[in-house]
Amino acid sequence: MQTQSAQTFIVIGAGQAGGRAVEAMRQTGFAGRIVLVGAEPHLPYERPPLSKELLAADAGELQSMFERAWFNERDIDLHLGVAAIAIERDEKQVRLADGTAMPYDKLLLTTGAAVRELDIEGAALPGVHTLRTIEDNRAIEALFSAQKPVVVVGGGFIGLEVAAAAQLRGCAVTVLEFADRLMGRALPAQISAIFAALHGANGVDVRLDTGVARIEGTQRAEAVVTTAGDRIAVQGVIVGVGIAPQTNLAQAAGLSVENGIVVDEYCRSSDENIYAAGDAASQWQPQLGRHLRLESWQNAQNQAIAAARNMCGADTAFAEVAWFWSDQFDVNLQMCGAPLDWKETVTRGDMAARDGILFQLKGGRIVGAIGLNRPRDMRFVKRIMAAGKTPSPAQLADDAIGFRDLLRA
Ligand SMILES: Cc1cc2nc3c(=O)[nH]c(=O)nc-3n(C[C@H](O)[C@H](O)[C@H](O)COP(=O)(O)OP(=O)(O)OC[C@H]3O[C@@H](n4cnc5c(N)ncnc54)[C@H](O)[C@@H]3O)c2cc1C
Repeated sequence: MQTQSAQTFIVIGAGQAGGRAVEAMRQTGFAGRIVLVGAEPHLPYERPPLSKELLAADAGELQSMFERAWFNERDIDLHLGVAAIAIERDEKQVRLADGTAMPYDKLLLTTGAAVRELDIEGAALPGVHTLRTIEDNRAIEALFSAQKPVVVVGGGFIGLEVAAAAQLRGCAVTVLEFADRLMGRALPAQISAIFAALHGANGVDVRLDTGVARIEGTQRAEAVVTTAGDRIAVQGVIVGVGIAPQTNLAQAAGLSVENGIVVDEYCRSSDENIYAAGDAASQWQPQLGRHLRLESWQNAQNQAIAAARNMCGADTAFAEVAWFWSDQFDVNLQMCGAPLDWKETVTRGDMAARDGILFQLKGGRIVGAIGLNRPRDMRFVKRIMAAGKTPSPAQLADDAIGFRDLLRA
């Protein structure tokens, strides 16, 4: 058998997951060749600031996760600004857009996700933006500096973070949400209503049950016509209607794909030499009895680390309590777990006052928690859930009982 030092691991996708994966490979002691291929021209960077602090007027430069010297010191080959266009599994090689063919022993796909575009008249006009990359962020930040009206299409996490940033920058903001409540895919109605009130109180015009019919303009976006027939004059439009996993490479190579690249608990795809992690991967969750694809910072980091370790021979199943956050105006929202229906709930604190935690229980266990402005408590809640502890509903509701004590109990 070939020694590991003679092997080549290729990582396709130089985003957050790809960056963490190559770091973990070297930390694990892998001494072979590592190649990181990225379609973007940038060193790996984390995306959460793009819809938050990097939309502020005095936003500094985006920091990449690691400097170029960091890669050189670890002998990691970077191929940036070039996409991988095929995985030739029979030859065990990756084909790049510049024609290069690179043989691999093991391959990791961290290709992330791409924004969904609107399929309506005017969607391609200049002034209509989506937000995924640093270039998108720069364009939207420039739009906000004009302090003119903007429309945000989509009342999900990204749309609402952008709306809050625009409002704080002095733009008049209208949010159009097709559904009857905000962030409805992930959150219960009670929390949606709290955020509708938050945005309303800060001057955002939130219109529910309302989509965009068309965008009008000759040279650039000038007005949005809603499905309710209203016409809103705008300087720009930001579309935040969700993302789709980038699975085209995997699919063309014949890997199993279903709402993401299908992987097992070890992050291994239907080809034992190919792994996947991050937004692009749909992982088998034994506790849930189904596959789950997450779009979150924590998952991009830790699933990629787990995949990298398994490529190096660790053979360890990856399982952790899902965790996500969003910042909108002065509210920090955090969510743990994979809750379903929010039927059996317990509240600590005062959610309407944006200072509390809503728990969902199932059979006495916490399966989900949403914290508003409780970042410290949520760290412990996540650990309580991971440890499988079962505090009583009365204990969970009682603000006088510290979560640290519940964890120790
Ligand atoms: C604006 C924004 C705000 C966010 N805020 C939060 C937040 O507050 N909290 C939270 O938990 N999560 C947040 N997220 C989600 C989080 O950033 C993502 O889950 C994370 O970036 C996923 O990492 P990834 O490496 O899987 O994918 P990505 O970061 O998308 O990286 C994938 C990379 O692969 C490249 N690629 C794709 N195909 C190829 C190919 N064929 N060849 C070469 N390269 C390729 C892409 O160009 C991209 O650079 C946010 C995301 C965005 C966009």
